[in-house]
Amino acid sequence: MTGEFFDPIPEKLNVLLIESRTLHEAERFIESCEYCNPVGAEIPFDCILDSITASDPSVTEYILEEPAKCPHCRHEILEKTLIEPE
Ligand SMILES: [Zn+2]
Repeated sequence: MTGEFFDPIPEKLNVLLIESRTLHEAERFIESCEYCNPVGAEIPFDCILDSITASDPSVTEYILEEPAKCPHCRHEILEKTLIEPE
């Protein structure tokens, strides 16, 4: 892939740092994740972040200060990890 002539990043991309305090808040909305519940987990973790931070998902990218943890299996959860919400 040559991306030299086309920049896929929108001009108004908003990069948001998710601090551990916010992460722990987001963890409360996680029931299980794609590692312990591959069938039920079908929304990406950043959807939870969208609603917690009231951000527009089409222009927002998240940087996690640390990975979140699945309350069920303790596996690390990153912004694109699929989860099942509470
Ligand atoms: Zn899990």
